This record gives sequence, C-alpha cells and structure tokens, in this order.
Amino acid sequence: MFAIDAHLDLSMNALEWNRDLRQSAAAINARERARNLTDKPDRGNATVSFPDLRRGGFGLVVATQIARFVAPDNPLPGWNSPEQAWAQTQGQLAWYRAMEEAGELVQIADRRGLDAHVARWQAAIGSGGDTARLPIGYILSLEGADSIVTLAHLERAHAAGLRALGPGHYGPGRYAHGTDATAPLNAAGHELLRGMDRLGIILDATHLCDEAFWTALDVFTGPVWASHNNCRALVDHNRQFSDEMIRGLVARGAVIGGPLDAWMMVPGWIRGKSLPEPMGCRLEVMLDHLDHICQIAGNADHIGIGSDLDGAYGREQSPYDLETIADLARLPSMLGRRGYSAADVEKVMHGNWLRFLRDAWK
Ligand SMILES: [Zn+2]
Repeated sequence: MFAIDAHLDLSMNALEWNRDLRQSAAAINARERARNLTDKPDRGNATVSFPDLRRGGFGLVVATQIARFVAPDNPLPGWNSPEQAWAQTQGQLAWYRAMEEAGELVQIADRRGLDAHVARWQAAIGSGGDTARLPIGYILSLEGADSIVTLAHLERAHAAGLRALGPGHYGPGRYAHGTDATAPLNAAGHELLRGMDRLGIILDATHLCDEAFWTALDVFTGPVWASHNNCRALVDHNRQFSDEMIRGLVARGAVIGGPLDAWMMVPGWIRGKSLPEPMGCRLEVMLDHLDHICQIAGNADHIGIGSDLDGAYGREQSPYDLETIADLARLPSMLGRRGYSAADVEKVMHGNWLRFLRDAWK
C-alpha cells in the first residue's frame, strides 16, 4: 500500500553518519560492521534506506534539515553559532538536491506536485508495477529552528522548499524550548510563528515544551501537525503529548505521526542498556499509542506514521520485530486485526497526511 512517513532525518544520516542511502540498510550495515565503527550508538543497525523505503511502499516522506545552536552553558551537542547551524542545513539541502539530480528523490512543495506524484506512485502500486525506479517524494522540513539566523533566512528556506518547521528540539532553543527544557515562548518565537503564518509553513508541534506548545497553538493561525510524537498516558515523559495536548491538536485538525523510538514506546527504557525484546518493544506497541489518540479523537482521522527510524538510533532501540522500515508494510494487516476498517487503514498509511497537505496547500 502507498505509505507516507512524516519524519525521517535522511540528510543527517547521509552527512553526519556518512550513509549512502541508495544502498540497502543491509549493505550500509555490512559496511559499518566491516569497519568496526563505534562513533555512533546505532552503527551497523540502520533500518532506513531508499531501497527499503520503496519496498515498504513509502513514496512520500517528510525529510528534515537539522542543526542545533548551543550557548556556552548548553551541554548538548551542537554548533557554536546560528550561522554555523545555518551552513550545516545548507549542506543538508545540497545533499537533497544531489539525490534529486540522481533521480532518487523529488521535492514536493505544492499541491500540483503532490497530486501528480501520489498519482504516479498509486498507479505503479495499483498495477502491481515496479516502484524501484520511482523517485521518492520528499517534503522539506526543519527540526528545531536554531539555524534560522534571521527571518530573512526563513524566507530563503521557504524559497528552497521548506514547508514544515518545528521551532524547538531538545533543550533550550533560540526560538522555543524543546524536550527536557521549559520556558514561555520568547519574542523571537512569536516573530518566527508570524513569519511562518505569512509564508504558509506548517507548524510541527513535536518537541515543543508544554509552555511553548500552548502559546504556539494560540499565536499560530495556520496548519499544525505533529510529525513524530507519542502519548504521555502510555509513557510518562515531557517529550510525549498529554491527553489535553492531543485534544488541543485534534481541535486544530492536526495529524500526529507515531514514532518508533523504543524509549518513547515502552515505559522504563534506559538508553544504552535496555533491549527491545525483554522490554516488550514490538511494532504492536506503536498501535497502542495511535489507538490512544483515536480514542481521544473519536475517530481515526488524526494519526499517521512519523517513524523517526533514522533519528540517531537503529535496531538496538526500535521494535524487535522490525528489521527495516519496509516492515511497516505489515501495519495494514495489524490494524485490520485490531478492527480498523479498510478505509481507516488507508487513512493511517497515507490518507490523513494527504488530506492535511491538500488542505494546507489548497
Ligand atoms: Zn525528533
């Protein structure tokens, strides 16, 4: 089935992990194991590549640029100036462009491009045809706004195709505080949201600290989604949405993407120590979170996939019954067994993100 993943860090993997995503995950992993790489926690455990995306039916993804600014007192990894962070995102953009030139990716930035691309993939899948040669569509997003040096940079980013932005990420941000930090949305954050409104950029509410989340929902008037976020009721952490936040998002017509990072799926996960199988972290748990959102919404119109499967972790920290992202093609039958109708299954796999984008870009 045609599928959409609303959150992948493709360019980060290409440039910081040095992964050639044209190779299969198996080939990427074999090369990393042969070289005994240990510089990243997920070496040899990659689950995302272009061939695996295609095998899973993923013809469209929301793909990030990502670069954090860190003040001297911020212990998180990141760049020492916003200008360096901006340059990093421009390198990431250059890689997306190179993959477009290579015929692997195609940027989707408006309604007409979206409809034509989806029709092409649906036709290939519907006829049992080969998707191996089709470019994967990508919608350019930015995770954490630190690299937006000034609002003029936001305009340049939009001109380059930026269509969704999450103002915060981890820790204190220049525009908004994110996971594990807390502060009211600052003046620059207000200005950023007004700029995004003007340009029609989607607000990604993922990672926003609670205070910034509620202010952002008040200030921002445009379309809001949460590309990759699970539920606080199932795993209690400030990274997750409370039921009240989910209700707030549903009221705005948001779609919330389910991520597969183990610590956000099952309670009690200890990074670098816990293992997926003894912790009971399997694909089915993703559906527990998605189902919780459906119970609050009273329908299946507000959930989708936002796997985050290449977000600085791999098989060591994702469901044990998933080898690559292609295994998400099992979701339709799993949803069916839970009683989701065929129409609802389609909504989860692609329909909700598509409806959202068509509304946002009409
Ligand atoms: Zn994230």
